[in-house]
Formats: sequence, structure tokens, C-alpha cells
Amino acid sequence: MVDRKINFSAGPAALPLSVLEEAQEALISLDGTGIGVLEHSHRGKAFVSVYENAVKRCREVAGISDDYDILFLQGGASTQFFMVPMNFLDTDQTADYLVTGSWSQKAVKEAKKFGNVNIVCSSEDRNFCYIPKERKTSSSARYVHFTSNNTIYGTEFSTEPEVPNGAFLACDASSDIFSRPLDVNKYGMIYAGAQKNLGPSGVTLVIVRKDLVEQGKSDLPTMLQYRTHADKESMFNTPPTFGIYIISLTLKWIQEQGGLEKIGERNAAKAATLYSYLDQSQLFKATADTDSRSKMNVCFVTGDADKDAAFIKAATEAGFDGLKGHRSVGGMRASIYNAFEPQDVESLVAFMRDFEQKNG
Ligand SMILES: *Cc1c(COP(=O)(O)O)cnc(C)c1O
Repeated sequence: MVDRKINFSAGPAALPLSVLEEAQEALISLDGTGIGVLEHSHRGKAFVSVYENAVKRCREVAGISDDYDILFLQGGASTQFFMVPMNFLDTDQTADYLVTGSWSQKAVKEAKKFGNVNIVCSSEDRNFCYIPKERKTSSSARYVHFTSNNTIYGTEFSTEPEVPNGAFLACDASSDIFSRPLDVNKYGMIYAGAQKNLGPSGVTLVIVRKDLVEQGKSDLPTMLQYRTHADKESMFNTPPTFGIYIISLTLKWIQEQGGLEKIGERNAAKAATLYSYLDQSQLFKATADTDSRSKMNVCFVTGDADKDAAFIKAATEAGFDGLKGHRSVGGMRASIYNAFEPQDVESLVAFMRDFEQKNG
């Protein structure tokens, strides 16, 4: 077998090996059709079956009812930053935004182009190292938008924010979608670029309530209306077929692991292994506040930029790839999404312990 590194990349990120192996075969011939998955028409029987499986598995994994549409769109989560307000926010309406990192800031910037934005809370005062508890919701918001996991700063909401009557909840779940049990019924919509927890880049999963799709503005460019994609089952134009295929395999893998309950336990255990080492370490320290810690992106520093660099260099040489933190935080970030194997977290902790002994 090919020698694979331990990959801590924040996105695109590690995928389950079994998914990659199945995809490898399907590149040449999908399900015995003699035509590779990249080469099938999106209108043909073979791909339509891939698409149907992806939707079905998505509904099964998260218990998503027929009240919601499941869409596979393009343009990344970044396109959802403007599609949400473009479809749902009028110039005289207000949307509530919780600002917990640079992805939420980018979402706010887009929303302001379409209507009023009320900042419910912000953790910018401490470089986004916590999820604020003090919040100012507006009385008549059209929707409340939050980023469930803050990929760059390593913080995560433990529960959904409160939603005033008449508003719906919109969530950017790009970096923690399907990483733990989820009550979709609390949401008007959830969107996620696939490249962290679901599959490759180039496809965005959008779960949106059907009544909202109907309420969306109809004078927008056709491709930018949710209804277009809902009416045509994501096949108004050529969808990202390969991405949908990989998402379908990843969802099957989640089911084989025992579903979101089991995946959630596995992720919690992985994160606990790393945080409990960090909490007693004399050299390393976690950067997020204890009650706001992400189970997907674990950010830590030594407090000394040279030591950080020395650690990253040594780790890279030892086969631990992608540990360098985002430039806005510095230090290290271990992204340990769904597919990241528990024993690889153990290996990292063993390596850090050893590094601490030699350099502490
Ligand atoms: C990665 C990420 C994005 C950006 O996604 P694109 O698909 O690159 O547009 C947005 N939000 C969060 C929370 C992310 O982690």
C-alpha cells in the first residue's frame, strides 16, 4: 500500500480510506457500468442512482424530513454568504448575525449588501477565542445566522442560539456538519462546503426548508434562486457529479460507523485525548476558552513563535502534516474531522509528549 501521512489539513481534509478506495475503482468503472464516475452523464441512470443515494443517506443520517430540500450547489460556502440574504432579506428587513470568526464576518459583509444586519454578539475583542454568552437579538429579525464551528479559531457552539418568533435559523456548518447528533427541525437552513467533513471541494450541501424556498425572491438570476435547484433536484445545470458521489460514499461510511450518535462519541473522545494532554502540558496550551472548545479544530501554542516553528518542523518530518495554524492565530491547529482516525490523535499526543520532554 502507498505510504500515507497523518493529515491534519483544515480543508480540503482527510477522507475515510475506504471511501477513497471505492472511489478509486469507480474512476474506471462505476458500479460495473464500464464507464467511470467522472464520465457518466448526470442525466443517465447510473448517476441518477448516485444522486438518489446521496439524498437518501443524507436524510437517514440526520433524520431530515420531507419538509426540507437537500441541494448540492457550487460556489462553496462563500456563495451561501450572499445567497442567503439575496433570497431572504429585503432592504427594509433585519437579519441577526452572531460574529464568532472571520467566516461569520464575511457572511455579515455580504448580508449588508441586501438589508440591515444586527450583530447579536462578537468575540473579536479576544481574537475569537470564545463563544459569547451575552447576546442582543433584535425583535423582528428575518433570520438568525451563526457559524456552528469556527475552523480558524477552534471554537464551537455547544447549542443552537435562540431564535426570536417569526425568524428562522441559518447555519454555516462547513466544518462540523454531521460530526455529532443534530436536530435539523430547529433550523430553517444549514449549509456546508463539503471539503471538511463530507467530501471534496466544489460541492456545497444545502439543507433548506421547503416553505422558505417558496418564499425566496423570484426576480433573481435563475442560478441564484434556491427554487431553481429545488425544482430541478440540483440538476438545473450540470451538478458537481464527482463531489456528490464522494458525499454519498462518506454518508454511507458514517452509517457504517453507527450514525451521528457514534460519530459524535468518537469525535468527543478524539478531542478529549488532545485537550487533556494540552491541559497538563508545561509547553503547549490550548488557545480557545474551555467552554468554547471545538471538537473539530484544536488550536494550541507554546507562546513562543520560534518554538512553534520548531515543533511544526519536527512534526512534519515525523509524518504529521498540516499542523501549522491559520496565519491570523499562529501556532498550531490539529483539524480532526470525522474521518480522522482516533489512533492518529494518540500518535500526535505521544509525539508532543516526547517533544515536550526534549524541549520543555
Ligand atoms: C472553509 C469554510 C468556509 C469557506 O468555504 P468555501 O467552500 O471555501 O467557500 C466557510 N465557512 C466555514 C465555517 C469554513 O470552515
